[in-house]
Amino acid sequence: MIPSLRWKQILPRGRGDKLSVLVAVTELLVEGFFELLVILPRKYPEATMYYWLSVALGLFLFINTLGNLLMAMSTELSTSSSLLPTVLRPGWDYCYSCQRNTPPRAYHCGHCGICVLKRDHHCLFIGSCVGYANHRYYLVCIMYITLGALYANYLNMEYIVENVSENLKWTTLLASFTPIFGWLFGLTQPVSYFIAFQSGTCALGFLGFVILFGYHVYIALRGQTTHEKRRSRDRSYDLGWRQNMREVLGTRWYLVWIFPLIRSPLPGDGIHFLNRGALGLEDVKDL
Ligand SMILES: [Zn+2]
Ligand SMILES: [Zn+2]
Repeated sequence: MIPSLRWKQILPRGRGDKLSVLVAVTELLVEGFFELLVILPRKYPEATMYYWLSVALGLFLFINTLGNLLMAMSTELSTSSSLLPTVLRPGWDYCYSCQRNTPPRAYHCGHCGICVLKRDHHCLFIGSCVGYANHRYYLVCIMYITLGALYANYLNMEYIVENVSENLKWTTLLASFTPIFGWLFGLTQPVSYFIAFQSGTCALGFLGFVILFGYHVYIALRGQTTHEKRRSRDRSYDLGWRQNMREVLGTRWYLVWIFPLIRSPLPGDGIHFLNRGALGLEDVKDL
């Protein structure tokens, strides 16, 4: 069976992970309903074709974000279901916590309590590690969050411009950019605070996720994991951008962006990896 299709218990293990996932999922749901119930009816008072097209686009972004998030959270990542050799091979390690041999690129995660195949990093947002089997869902999820935030900013812009031009005072500006201060000092009403908070979150979220998505695409194209990028300058798994994409997104890497349930088998097994040496390519080192 392909590792990405195995399911584990979806709830995160640690208390911190549970809390961060709860905050992230709540914010996604609140933001989705905020656009649907507050912003869209203001923008399109009549249910015109543009209104329904906007709803359809929003739903597409929302379903893909949540779908990829759930897949990233529920995918089995550990080495426990793989048949591992009892003798330590070159490049392998021994994990004293799991009491098992771990293949190259696998590392133990203290939060998850397991050794994760081709471990990238532990993500608070999904309350789990990002590794060999769920890297695809993580990458597509942050792409859809970025696009969703961009779309929300486009929808919110009219309201913000209207609000700022009508009430151009320092208190309004303070409340718009730092809604928590606006609320604490009584500069905004709870409803205005909520709207300012949602709009501010979308703007900041977009900037943050552009950087995050750009960084992860950049290292995936170079055949590296976050762990490898931080800890060493080694790029021995860089097989060229097209093959590197297949290693992360699967053989149908050009289709995974459309829907999380589209099958795209990963080329390897998460244990054995092709490297530049095996393919007769020259070594590449980061500068
Ligand atoms: Zn371990
Ligand atoms: Zn982890």
